[in-house]
Order: sequence, then structure tokens, then C-alpha cells
Amino acid sequence: MALDKNIIEQTAKLILERRPLVALTGAGASVESGIPDFRSAGGLWDKFDPMEYATIQAFKRDPQRVWNMLHELEGTLGKSQPNAGHRALARLEEAGLLKAIITQNIDNLHQEAGSEEVIEFHGNGRRLRCLRCNEFYAPSSTEIALDQDKIPHCQHCDAILKPDIIFFGEAIPEDALERSYQLVAECGAMIIIGTSATVMPAAALPLLAQQRGAPLIEVNLERTELSHAADTTLIGKAGKVLPALADAIIERLPS
Ligand code: NAD
Repeated sequence: MALDKNIIEQTAKLILERRPLVALTGAGASVESGIPDFRSAGGLWDKFDPMEYATIQAFKRDPQRVWNMLHELEGTLGKSQPNAGHRALARLEEAGLLKAIITQNIDNLHQEAGSEEVIEFHGNGRRLRCLRCNEFYAPSSTEIALDQDKIPHCQHCDAILKPDIIFFGEAIPEDALERSYQLVAECGAMIIIGTSATVMPAAALPLLAQQRGAPLIEVNLERTELSHAADTTLIGKAGKVLPALADAIIERLPS
């Protein structure tokens, strides 16, 4: 579907009037980087139901089974590259218009695109964490052999390592939560990209921003649970809509 230029122009104007902008991103922001969201048919999540595998109870009960899923996930994450949508958000930050990205994604792609202020609401799959002593490791770290048949163990206390991804049943990291609430209170407008807005508490952030007077701009392939509350829903791929929007905003800046 062709982008509606008028809506892009109007949204660019709104963002410039109401900056600073804060973004909330979900799995849809990385679909064009080859990482399936929870909804795509035939993807990773058809094989590994997240409600069965991505729970802390499942991990503690049978870590080997969950590590098998994590090895497949690593195969997909390891090959992925930032897409045009990630890069457009990094450009908006560089231009001083986007204050921060709160991401539900664990793929590190915003950081790889050059975004600096990224709040990892659900952790980061590029790190491992010891469940006992809380030591962190890079998965590429030479101390940790990611062997398909063996669960990695902590070098310090020998407990099982888990990717630093927030599983269902685990708390959101306190610093991410605090920083997100602060950003929501301070933002002039919020842009919500590629999320079905169903996973709490992230799904509540746009509504909190709206209560503080921030307009909500949604970018998604389809209407979502949030669309009734959003001031504008831009229907289309994040990798197409965000570069067009970033161009329209940056063109309006005085040179
Ligand atoms: P979700 O799967 O529930 O929803 C994805 C949304 O993105 C849908 O509304 C879909 O219409 C939209 N979408 C798909 N492709 C798009 C595109 N190219 N452009 C714009 N929108 C597009 O994902 P969620 O709301 O993020 O919640 C699922 C949870 O699982 C979150 O915690 C999420 O971060 C995690 N998850 C993360 C990754 C990742 O790190 N890349 C991948 C899958 C799931």
C-alpha cells in the first residue's frame, strides 16, 4: 500500500510541535530484519509456543528444553541486521528530536543502528545472566561455550546461565521500569511501532503518556488494541513509514 503523503506531513508537523518524542517498539520493528514476531505464521513461535517455553517456570523445570529453543533463536538473532526503520529512529535521535526508545525487543538492533538512549524493557538476548549470583556474560565470551548439547554454567558459582531476556513470570528490571515511567511523564509525543500492545506492563506506557497530554502516533501493519486511543495510526511497514516520517520531520528543521 502506498504511503499517504498528507498523513506523513501532518504527523511530521505534530511531532515537531510536540517534541521531545519517545518511541515504544515491539517485535514488528524487527520483522523486516528477519526476526519473526509472535503473530507471523510458520515462524519460530509456531514451533516454540512462547507461553510454554518463554516462562521462568519452564526454564527452571527443564532448562535443556528451553535452551534448545534459545539455540534456534540465537541462529535467527545472530544473522539479523538493523533495517531502515531502526536507522530512521537513530537519525531522529541524532537530530535531537527523539529522546529515547523504550524497546520490548531483545535483539540489540536499535543499538546496532546507532541509537544511544535505548531502554531494554524485556532484557537483551546478547547477554547471559547467572540465576544465582547475577553475573553477566556476553554469549560470544570465550569463557562460555554455547554448545548445543550442554547448558552453560557460571564460571563463579556454577549455577545455570540464562539469556538476559525477561521471561513471562519475571519482573521487569527496576531501572528500565523507572526510566520508562520518567520518559513517559516527560515526553511531548509518543510513537508506538510494531507492537500488538497486549503484553503488560509495556502496553500501559502509551496510555500513561496520553494521560499526561502526549499525542500517540502508531505505526503498524494493522489496527491494534491501541488504535482506538491513538491520535494517528500510520498503516504500513516500519521500514517504509519511519524513513518517510524522519525525512519529512528533518526537512522541516531550520538549516
Ligand atoms: P507481537 O508479535 O505481539 O506484535 C507484533 C506487532 O507488529 C503486530 O501488531 C504486527 O501487526 C506488527 N508488525 C509486524 N510486522 C510489522 C512491520 N514490518 N512493520 C510494522 N508493524 C509490524 O509483538 P509485541 O507486541 O512486541 O509483543 C511480543 C513480546 O515478544 C514482546 O515482549 C516482544 O519484544 C517479544 N518478541 C521480541 C522479538 C525481538 O526481539 N525481535 C521477536 C518476537 C517477540
